[in-house]
Amino acid sequence: MPYDTNNVFAKILRHEIPNKTVYENEFVLSFYDIAPKAKVHVLVIPKGSYVDFQDFIDHAPQNEIDGFFQGILSTVQTLQLTNGYRLVINTGKDSGQEVPHLHAHILAGEKLSVDHL
Ligand code: AMP
Repeated sequence: MPYDTNNVFAKILRHEIPNKTVYENEFVLSFYDIAPKAKVHVLVIPKGSYVDFQDFIDHAPQNEIDGFFQGILSTVQTLQLTNGYRLVINTGKDSGQEVPHLHAHILAGEKLSVDHL
């Protein structure tokens, strides 16, 4: 699937849509999910244009891959999630991925069940 430059996260990166930023550096932007599924629900997106995790791993240079995972860790540290957290990356149709720009969900702030994503 080619990258759709009109997806909602591309618009957030272009500052066309507002977001509640948690953390940002040259590789990632992290912001609160607009429809939280847990007490803490934050999304981490790479600044590069990748449809999903598979596209990212297949095409991103190593520094962007390192930067994405480091950005997730820095976001977790910023949120001070001392009781733990869950990371979810939906990929492709069967996962229910809605937005075609790679994103990692950070879920935390309560005891998580299987129903949390
Ligand atoms: P997924 O189903 O893995 O593609 O997750 C997409 C997530 O993006 C959902 O949890 C939505 O609530 C969230 N979302 C969609 N639009 C926005 C937005 N403008 N700002 C923040 N989160 C959003």
